Amino acid sequence: MQQEPDASSFPNGGLRATFEARGYTAWDPSSPPFIIEMNRGRTLCIPTIFIAYTGESLDYKAPLLKSIEALDKAAVDVCYYFDRNIEKVTPTLGWEQEYFVVDEGLYLARPDLLMCGRTLFGHNSAKNQQLDDHYFAAIPERVYAFMRDFENECYKLGIPLRTRHNEVAPGQFECAPIYEEANIAVDHNTLLMDTMSRTALKHNLRVLLHEKPFAGVNGSGKHNNWSLATNTGINLLAPGRTPKTNLMFLAFFVNTIKAVHDYADILRASIASAQNDHRLGANEAPPAIMSVFIGEYLFKALNDVKERVNEGMDEQDETMLKLDIHKRIPEVLLDNTDRNRTSPFAFTGNKFEFRAVGSSANCAYPMTVLNTIMAETLNKFKEEVDDLIEKGEKKEIAIMHVIREYIVASERVLFEGDGYSKAWEEEAEKRGLPNQKTTPRALDAMLADKNIDLFVSNKIYTKAEIEARHDIELEKYIKKVQIESRLMAEIATSMILPPAIRYQNLLAKNIAGLKGAGLSESAYANQKQILDKISEHINNASDLVEQMIDARKSANKIEGNREKAIAYEETIKEAFFEKIRRHADKLELLVDDREWYLPKYRELLFLR
Ligand code: ADP
Ligand code: MG
Repeated sequence: MQQEPDASSFPNGGLRATFEARGYTAWDPSSPPFIIEMNRGRTLCIPTIFIAYTGESLDYKAPLLKSIEALDKAAVDVCYYFDRNIEKVTPTLGWEQEYFVVDEGLYLARPDLLMCGRTLFGHNSAKNQQLDDHYFAAIPERVYAFMRDFENECYKLGIPLRTRHNEVAPGQFECAPIYEEANIAVDHNTLLMDTMSRTALKHNLRVLLHEKPFAGVNGSGKHNNWSLATNTGINLLAPGRTPKTNLMFLAFFVNTIKAVHDYADILRASIASAQNDHRLGANEAPPAIMSVFIGEYLFKALNDVKERVNEGMDEQDETMLKLDIHKRIPEVLLDNTDRNRTSPFAFTGNKFEFRAVGSSANCAYPMTVLNTIMAETLNKFKEEVDDLIEKGEKKEIAIMHVIREYIVASERVLFEGDGYSKAWEEEAEKRGLPNQKTTPRALDAMLADKNIDLFVSNKIYTKAEIEARHDIELEKYIKKVQIESRLMAEIATSMILPPAIRYQNLLAKNIAGLKGAGLSESAYANQKQILDKISEHINNASDLVEQMIDARKSANKIEGNREKAIAYEETIKEAFFEKIRRHADKLELLVDDREWYLPKYRELLFLR
């Protein structure tokens, strides 16, 4: 089934001119169609890929499907060493979706939430998440009613939601389904985000999917639990029952680590966005450094392999080693891992958990990248093992050798400590691990030769598609920061300064009055102190807003989206956002509460 919708108003990154902007959709039969009910209307929706008439993919799904196929082939080839019944390998995905819920009335009184999905201003409330009392409390009743409602809507659509709970920040929650084939899980996640947002309206609530809606409390992520399932019902990333299946596990496990090591930069790029920049590297979210946490047991097991696999290994050594590793890797690892929540990429017993994905992201892109780098790594692995076998090495010894080589080549990506600490940042730098904190520069990885080769040779994207996507990501970044900057200026000027100036006047009149009545200076010293502070913040905020507008004008003149995005990042966002906000937030604490237009953090986060 094929259709021809208009694709002309899509961002195209230079791929197509408007006059030739025809696009085609084609049914993806691997994802079930569904019916969306709105009021009395029912719409049949069919998951499709979306391509330009020239064949370039314009969507997330087509590349995802290609990556799933590439990974299937590469993984089956490696499985063949161990188990010839395996004919198909499918990546699985179980996402955990974090989100905030706020009252709709308050939401609508905040132009920043309405336009940007996050608060651009707002002083911390005295109490926020210090006591962890929201995390451990029961779900607020009104939110619970909303959850039940959207869960039911999700069940009608076939989304297998399983868990619901409060998250760390006040007003923050999480849900997660039972994992599914990656392609279906991705569709279900986008459908979930839509369903949640629509259902919230019925409860006079709004869902915030933004990665960092509120400063000073936790942001939201979307942990992507990823693994590989065979047609024979085996999870390739679950330690096996026998030494032989454990060697298969070890092969896939080590290949994943190697893949993350070799392609950390593109993995980082796959989760880059203006929103996620507020989260990665901030002190409650996985850092922008892509490291892998595997837990103590496996760390030791890998070290064993490293130390004991050697040149002259004979069959007896091999058997001993296999048995040893088997003892080292207990079948049920679930209780021994997952105690490190600071890692962006953690092994959690029978799957890897990619935690750096942003809460509003479409999982498709990070999953496409993960599948592809795994496919590529497995292909190389097989080549190397085959090479050794050809040279006369016994199969299992050959596999052991390449596993060892991979451990040595990628161990610097393993990190078991606190990923949020400053010490890790320094250590990572010593190890030479990339740490790109901002989107415009993180996206450079998309154009690195090795990464273009990766995608082109695995037939996931053409070079033109990569360049277009890179450009679109930059454009998205520029526009998001531009919108925030405009809104910041507008809110500061039209909603924050006016009440501050009125209060300033009130104080000035009060002082003049007391002075006029012949009172001594001590009678109005405190008023004067407050007035001074207010005046200082008004002047500073207003000056900075003007300077920011000028900086925007200069940035807009820059040709080329990369340089423009960097200018937006450095000379607008970095240079002004925090500073302007600081003065505005101070005013919030000083100005008469009755006068303050914007709902405050305590209202947004605590009114239920
Ligand atoms: P957590 O401790 O991180 O909350 P859970 O056990 O609740 O972990 O699992 C989180 C997600 O991982 C769920 O969506 C679950 O279905 C998914 N998951 C479990 N096993 C797999 C697997 N083999 N492949 C992909 N996802 C999985
Ligand atoms: Mg988890």
